[in-house]
Amino acid sequence: MKVLDVLKNQIRHLLAYHGGRQIVTVRPERPTISFSFDDVAESAFSAGDRLLQKYQLAGTYYLALGLLGKDTNIGRIIGEENVIDLYKRGNEIGCHTFDHLDAWASDRFSYEDSILKNAVALKKLIPGLQLKTFAYPKGSATPKTKKICEKHFCCSRGIKRGINKNRIDLNLLNGHSIYGDMDSIELYKKIVDRNKTQKGWLIFYTHDVRKNKSRYGCTPQLLEEIISYSIKSGAEIKTVYEAYTSAGHTS
Ligand SMILES: [Zn+2]
Repeated sequence: MKVLDVLKNQIRHLLAYHGGRQIVTVRPERPTISFSFDDVAESAFSAGDRLLQKYQLAGTYYLALGLLGKDTNIGRIIGEENVIDLYKRGNEIGCHTFDHLDAWASDRFSYEDSILKNAVALKKLIPGLQLKTFAYPKGSATPKTKKICEKHFCCSRGIKRGINKNRIDLNLLNGHSIYGDMDSIELYKKIVDRNKTQKGWLIFYTHDVRKNKSRYGCTPQLLEEIISYSIKSGAEIKTVYEAYTSAGHTS
């Protein structure tokens, strides 16, 4: 990436961070951790979901229905029957726009249309489903798209690292990627420890979960180690929506 593009992206992130906010104060009674999967590759379903099940936990799966069954750089995306299966087993299904739109490259009307289209497509699969939370595709948000998301969702997650604590922006929650293999486990343990000390809400996200992971994914070993360390830390493990509802937020 050229220096100018890097600079442009930094400015866009700054604008998104400071504009279109919905600030609330949260004081969770206990440290909380959510595990989320963006796009939902087949490996996130077969390995990620299986690991959460092993520990009797539920995750949040951010789906862009336009991607279902497609081959992507994180592997093939799950199919309709897998979406239904995830939902039936108590996981949260979240929105990621229908077309996996980049907010920096779309106008606000197309962006909102894509949110609505995703809801319609998901309701066809799962009648009555209410999408409560959102994750910005590619992590890109703008003040305008943040306000659109506020109309449709309780909260929306970006990719800015950090623990959600005290005063938080519901329109752009911090998220922490889980990328890589066991050589980064100590880093993740430190983040979980920090979340414990600060009594915060940590939202992890990843894409594919497989041995030959993409640069946006992790190995099953790393994910399992983080899950089990999170449990040992005493944190409550909740879906993003459950964590939102129990965070005790006040305006
Ligand atoms: Zn995505």
